[in-house]
Amino acid sequence: MNMSKPIVAIVGRPNVGKSTLFNQIGKKRVSIVDDMPGVTRDRIYLDAEWLNQHFTMIDTGGIEFDESNHILKSMRQQAQLAMDEADVILFLVDGRSGLTTADEEVARLLRSTKKPVILAVNKIDSPQRAMDVYEFYNLGLGDPIPISASNAMNLGDLLDAIVAAFPKKEEEVKDEDEISIAVIGRPNVGKSSIVNAILGEERVIVSDVPGTTRDAIDTHFTKDGTKFTLIDTAGMRRRGKIDEPVERYSVMRSLRAIDRADVVLMMINAFEGITEQDKKIAGYAHESGKGVVIVVNKWDIYPDKDDKSTLRFTDELRDKLGFLQYAPVLYTSALTGQRVARVTDLVRYVAEQQAMRIKTSVLNELIRDAVSVNPPPMHRGRQLKILFMTQTDICPPKFIIFVNDPELMHFSYLRFIENRLREQFGFEGTPLRLIVRARK
Ligand code: GDP
Ligand code: GDP
Repeated sequence: MNMSKPIVAIVGRPNVGKSTLFNQIGKKRVSIVDDMPGVTRDRIYLDAEWLNQHFTMIDTGGIEFDESNHILKSMRQQAQLAMDEADVILFLVDGRSGLTTADEEVARLLRSTKKPVILAVNKIDSPQRAMDVYEFYNLGLGDPIPISASNAMNLGDLLDAIVAAFPKKEEEVKDEDEISIAVIGRPNVGKSSIVNAILGEERVIVSDVPGTTRDAIDTHFTKDGTKFTLIDTAGMRRRGKIDEPVERYSVMRSLRAIDRADVVLMMINAFEGITEQDKKIAGYAHESGKGVVIVVNKWDIYPDKDDKSTLRFTDELRDKLGFLQYAPVLYTSALTGQRVARVTDLVRYVAEQQAMRIKTSVLNELIRDAVSVNPPPMHRGRQLKILFMTQTDICPPKFIIFVNDPELMHFSYLRFIENRLREQFGFEGTPLRLIVRARK
């Protein structure tokens, strides 16, 4: 069952406290993101949970647009993007500095959307400041919710209002044997081209042709008896209207697509090499826990190729996208069709790897071997004892390791266990979650 998570976009002037609020909400959840080197730290989105509802929150203030730094202009772009892509818009204003022209301008835009808009007035740090809220009724966006992001005041009420505004759940009917693919990557890496190349293959039977509206329409197809869905990251085919905000990379669309996918195709432009932006996008894929296949496209125009070129490029990938060690790499040309036929095979393979379950008895044998080859080092004169390990979930595979004292488990030892798991069982293309618990 794949249900896409609602997206909440925070819009607001610089310095109203967007990132402070963002970080406060982030603190409310248990962190599951592993501390792997290379994953970008300047987060602009986070996965949050409130009252059992999962959602993704995005700070539009952190999104880079192609346009200048002009505040009003970038505010308009933020608001437009939120109106296009988010499910709920959180408009944050500053109770200390009071109502500004930019706020009024943004409110005017937001009043035209049918999407729910929640207005929060920040920096209401004490009851004495409550009066600062009233002038914001003038924005015509309903009752403003007073909060203090830095003191974490009233955030519960705010989150209640956000969650209450989520669209009614529409259960997506998903065929269990169908493998959903999200194609992500920088503009111009060849996302549309590879999609078209895959759908144009001889053995592919397309059962559902994407429409031309701006709404996301997935494409269903079958190849060699396996059913696939290509998730449309809306706009993959659409070419922008002139007035549309030119976001350098559509974070919201990608997150939404990744969220609905079983396997993510992370596309890299061979000709241009691996950039900082690729690193960020790859970080989204990694943190999602979905299966990942790295596709290095435009291989046809890679300069001065020799028989070591793919090896060298793969080394560079492993170096720059260190957190994606587990992802298989394919060198393609969407233009000539080179290796395009392999894409779906790899996707199917990775989907199988993600769904693999290992018996507890087999895992414990692995632990016994691992410990005898490489006993856990002593820590403050105490020895880590691993009591047993069991797999509790798939997609991504999740393991719980019961020990005498979790404090004694060093990150590098956990890494060692992960490597043993991969050596023995593969788990290619999928991240693994290893959780350490004290035995009850
Ligand atoms: P952003 O530019 O909208 O992301 O704003 P920041 O989160 O960076 O905050 C801008 C400034 O406002 C920082 O100095 C924060 O410490 C301060 N700030 C944020 N929230 C509050 C609040 O609730 N009360 C007060 N007094 N200051 C706050
Ligand atoms: P998207 O923005 O990621 O969807 O990229 P497009 O599929 O629109 O491709 C951008 C440009 O790169 C187009 O001009 C394509 O014809 C070209 N292109 C895509 N794939 C390849 C490839 O494998 N080799 C070469 N030489 N050009 C490609």
